[in-house]
This record gives sequence, structure tokens and C-alpha cells, in this order.
Amino acid sequence: MVNLVLLGPPGVGKGTYAKELSRRLGIPHISTGDIFREEVKKGTPLGLKVKEYLDRGVLVPDSIVNEVVKQRLSMDDCRRGFILDGYPRTLNQAKALDSMVRIDAALYFTAPKEVIIERVSGRRICPKCGAIYHVKNIPPKKPGICDICGSKLIQREDDKPEVVERRLRVYEETMRPVIEYYRSKGLLIEVDASEPVVERIVLKAIEELKRRNIIS
Ligand code: ADP
Ligand code: ZN
Repeated sequence: MVNLVLLGPPGVGKGTYAKELSRRLGIPHISTGDIFREEVKKGTPLGLKVKEYLDRGVLVPDSIVNEVVKQRLSMDDCRRGFILDGYPRTLNQAKALDSMVRIDAALYFTAPKEVIIERVSGRRICPKCGAIYHVKNIPPKKPGICDICGSKLIQREDDKPEVVERRLRVYEETMRPVIEYYRSKGLLIEVDASEPVVERIVLKAIEELKRRNIIS
């Protein structure tokens, strides 16, 4: 059984590593962002309550998020462990989490700012079918054109370099206390995610968990 928290700036690839870790370790990937989006889509009471925060791109109040996570972690599939992604986002949430369960490690995925900006600002999406490309890493067959449906690819507004830099700065400032919290407890494991191979990054994380006897 292993209870993990995943930390890392926007654009580092955290969601991708979370899915791969979940598959390899056989424990659920719990993303608070996914939970909220799903509730909004289904129009549940919780969804109605959090919609305005999501639309504005601001944090949902701690009291709501903490309750959602507490309920989710009490479900059967979490008995063998879990991977939390997108939570905790504040020091308050980190402390609340500690009152619910014992956390075994916080995996902190890092990459130099230039690498993240390059990854995010090279991203192009198809407005019609949602396909995702990267001008260098995953180029479409014909530049600027979707392989699947032939539409003209676009760049998301918040993927533009100026905006990415601001998102990174905001992340740094708000998450520093959370990162220091896990560091001071000896639970922080930094994983260098600057190389472009997802599998290698995930294997590095798993090796480090084994080396510390957190998993066998
Ligand atoms: P993003 O990287 O765009 O913030 P997420 O999927 O992590 O994407 O979260 C989407 C939205 O869900 C956030 O903008 C916020 O409103 C809400 N949210 C998710 N996790 C949390 C959390 N731990 N605390 C507060 N709000 C959260
Ligand atoms: Zn398309």
C-alpha cells in the first residue's frame, strides 16, 4: 500500500506521469480537477457549487475540496493506496490531508523553466476534434494542419509564452509552502522531468520509491 502526492508546475507533464504510475502500481489516480469538471458536466449539487470557481480559474475553497478528497479517499479502491494529482494546492489542504491519511511520499516533478515553456508553447491543438500536437515533439504530417480532420491547428491562449511564464510564477509562489512542508517531513522526492521520455521519468520515480523502501 502506498499513498502518494504528486507535485509539479503546470506543463511539466504531471497528469501523464500520474496515469502511467497508476497503471504500473495498480492504484487509482485521483485528480481533483477531473473530479470537479466531471461534477460540473453532470450538473450535480457539488458541480453547481464549484462551477463559478472553475470558470474563473481560481481555487475552490479549502472546505469544499477537503471534503471531496476525504470522501474519495474513503472509497474501496483506495485501500491499496492512491495517487493524488492537483491536491494539496495550499498549506491548509496539506495539513487537512494529514488528518485524513498517512502520506508516504510527495513526488515533485521538476524541469527548467525553459524546457517547460518550450513544451507548452510548442503545443498546438485542433479546435475541431481536440487532437494535440507539438511543433517539434509530435508534429502533424502537414505543418499547421490536423492529421485527423484537416482543420487548421491553433495555440491555446494560456499556452502562449508570456502567459506560461506568469502561470509558472504563480505556481512557484503558491506552492512553495507546500513543497517546503513535505521537505521538512522528509517526504519530498524530487524527480527530474527534463528529458522528453515519459517512461524513463516514471521509472526514475519508481526506482526512487523502491530505494527508500516506500514500495517493494
Ligand atoms: P489547472 O492546472 O488548470 O488549474 P486542474 O485540473 O488542476 O487544472 O484544476 C482545475 C480547477 O479545479 C482549478 O482551476 C480549481 O478551480 C479547481 N481545483 C482543482 N484542484 C483544486 C484544489 N486542490 N484546491 C482548490 N481548487 C482546485
Ligand atoms: Zn482535427
